[in-house]
Amino acid sequence: MDIKLNSNFNSIKETYLFSDIARKVRDYKEQNPEAELIRMGIGDVTLPLPAPCVDALVKAGKEMGVKETFRGYPPEYGYDFLRGAIAFHYRKLGADIADSEVFVSDGAKSDLGNLPDILGDNPIIIPDPVYPVYVDSNLMAGRRISYVKGDKDNGFLPEPPRDETAEASVIYICSPNNPTGAVYTREGLTRWVDFALKTGSLIIFDSAYEAFISDDLPHTIYEIEGSKECAVEVSSFSKFAGFTGTRCGWTIVPDQLTAGGVKLSKLWSRRQATKFNGVSYPVQRAAEASLTDEGLKALKANIDYYKNNARLMSDLLRSKGLFFTGGTNSPYIWLKCPDDMGGWEFFDLMLTRFGIVGTPGEGFGEAGKGYFRLTAFGSAEDTEEAIRRLRDL
Ligand code: PLP
Repeated sequence: MDIKLNSNFNSIKETYLFSDIARKVRDYKEQNPEAELIRMGIGDVTLPLPAPCVDALVKAGKEMGVKETFRGYPPEYGYDFLRGAIAFHYRKLGADIADSEVFVSDGAKSDLGNLPDILGDNPIIIPDPVYPVYVDSNLMAGRRISYVKGDKDNGFLPEPPRDETAEASVIYICSPNNPTGAVYTREGLTRWVDFALKTGSLIIFDSAYEAFISDDLPHTIYEIEGSKECAVEVSSFSKFAGFTGTRCGWTIVPDQLTAGGVKLSKLWSRRQATKFNGVSYPVQRAAEASLTDEGLKALKANIDYYKNNARLMSDLLRSKGLFFTGGTNSPYIWLKCPDDMGGWEFFDLMLTRFGIVGTPGEGFGEAGKGYFRLTAFGSAEDTEEAIRRLRDL
């Protein structure tokens, strides 16, 4: 063929992280067939959907089989019942969000990947380490990226650049963060919002892990004054209600958010109406059910289960004197590898000596070197067993 391809794809680093991990685990298992491995590297939920969501899914599925209640294409921005339930959830968090500012989607990853469609060639500011989708979706669009570094000194919560005369940029913030589990305080987020307002920048705030927050920390960027003038928020039912396989998320685009006199919501509506055909009716009904009192109670029980795993692991690491972030308001624990080991070296040690599989920090950016991510999405039994094995670390 003689067609031209998108050469921006050449600048995306092939990530072999998860395939390298899978290969190392496979090789180890072949050589040690009796080894009982504990997998603490996965970022996927393991508990089943909350019962109210399943009931809603089944009921809505049955409606689809009856002529009178059958539904065809869903509205591109989500059914009114779900947009209303999400907006109400925000109002309970103290954020004034209107139903029309909610855009339902099939998950946060799609929205994060698609948002560059409506944005021009702005400089991009991304924290390091971070969820790799922000970086790759901007590289695919040929954008210039600069990184703000997380480290031990800032507790993996990078501050805005000092230069407040900087060009208007698109800034990604993930709080609670994947992979570090660190969560911005209101003061920390206010500094970012002030920076965005001063420089005319846009914040893309990812609150996918909001439901894990139990301390007095912001659940949404819209708790911060001025944020409706400078931020969109992307979120998801995936970690909130176990929808990783069911697929539903949303983006909030505030009505007053404009650039050059054009409303961002107008462009996002147009983008979604052109390239996206909505989320299925049963899935939206299941998502709606997660936001009822009964649904929230059931999903909180699942989140508490994961959080208990994280707490037990954190207690152990603390007793070993290891530096780590996360583990309290997040399913992730991000620990400094002991004895200045690299992430891969520590991975090998954890696998061969303790039979525990985690993720080397190197997979999440330059600043992840020498760190290691553990997740709390496994079973309570596996967590207890991991703690028993790690007592000799
Ligand atoms: N944002 C962050 C920070 C994530 O870690 C993930 C998934 O792991 C997502 C978004 C993707 O969410 P979804 O399942 O809604 O696509």
